[in-house]
Amino acid sequence: MEIDCIFCKIIAKQIPTSIIEETETILVIKDISPQAPIHYLIIPKEHRKDLLALGQKDREMAADILYMTHILAKKHDVVSFKLVNNNGAASGQSVFHIHFHFLAGKAFNF
Ligand code: AMP
Ligand code: ZN
Repeated sequence: MEIDCIFCKIIAKQIPTSIIEETETILVIKDISPQAPIHYLIIPKEHRKDLLALGQKDREMAADILYMTHILAKKHDVVSFKLVNNNGAASGQSVFHIHFHFLAGKAFNF
């Protein structure tokens, strides 16, 4: 765990949050500032700064993130959703622990 990382603190249950799903490798929480009726963050429990920090050994973690979108869509009965990853500060990444935004419940025009 990296103590200065807000998502590591959430994963360590040091900061209260609204947990949607939890597996051995993944935590899904509600985004604190939702941009859609459903706005979840899919967060791997192991700290990696961004997608460029992934190594060969992280391929299963990457697959777990993608499969979690399937679980969320089925559970919340949505067939249309967006999966967004901001990679790097210029893309809008503000928390430097990999996460994917799962957005649903409205029409998107971007
Ligand atoms: P990004 O800008 O792609 O790095 O996304 C970071 C997201 O984390 C933003 O949508 C924030 O609203 C969200 N966020 C930051 N702190 C928290 C928190 N304590 N609990 C839930 N979501 C958070
Ligand atoms: Zn972290």
